[in-house]
Amino acid sequence: MDCIFCEIAEKSSEAEIVFENDKFVAFLDINPVNYGHTLVIPKTHYDNFLTIPAEDLVAMTKLTQYLAGVVKRALKADGFNIISNNGNSAGQSVFHFHYHIIPRYENDFHMRPRTIEYKNTEIEIYREKIKEAVTKYEGILNG
Ligand code: AMP
Ligand code: ZN
Repeated sequence: MDCIFCEIAEKSSEAEIVFENDKFVAFLDINPVNYGHTLVIPKTHYDNFLTIPAEDLVAMTKLTQYLAGVVKRALKADGFNIISNNGNSAGQSVFHFHYHIIPRYENDFHMRPRTIEYKNTEIEIYREKIKEAVTKYEGILNG
C-alpha cells in the first residue's frame, strides 16, 4: 500500500523526526500552519481515529499530551491546537491516523469552522439522535 506515513515510519521516506519510540513517531508537517507544526503517528497503519485499537489510541493520546507540552515550551507558544481530521469531508489528506499539534500565538490567526444555528427545537432532535446511539454503544461496551 502506498502510504507516505508508513514510509516515514519505516525510514524509506525522510522526515524531520522530533520523537520516536517502538510504536510512534512524531515529525514536522511539511506544510505547517505555524512553525513547529508537528504530526504524531502510530508506526502501524490505521486509517483513522475509529480504526486504531483503543489501547494504542490511549498510548498515542498520552504521548501527544506530552509532546504538546514540549512543543509549547520549546517554541514559547501561548497555546496549541490538537486536531485529527477524519475522512475526506473533514479534510483528511493522509489516510494513516495522526494527530496534529499546532503551536499557537496570541492573535496569529483564527481557525474556527463556520457555525450554524439550531432552529426552534431542532437541538433536541440532534440530542436524541446521538443519545440513542450512545445508549446502544454502551450495551456493546459492557459486553
Ligand atoms: P491531514 O490533512 O489531516 O490528513 O494531514 C496530513 C498532513 O500531512 C498535512 O498537513 C500535510 O502537510 C502533511 N504531510 C503530507 N506529507 C508529508 C510528509 N512527507 N512529511 C511531513 N508532513 C507531510
Ligand atoms: Zn500508513
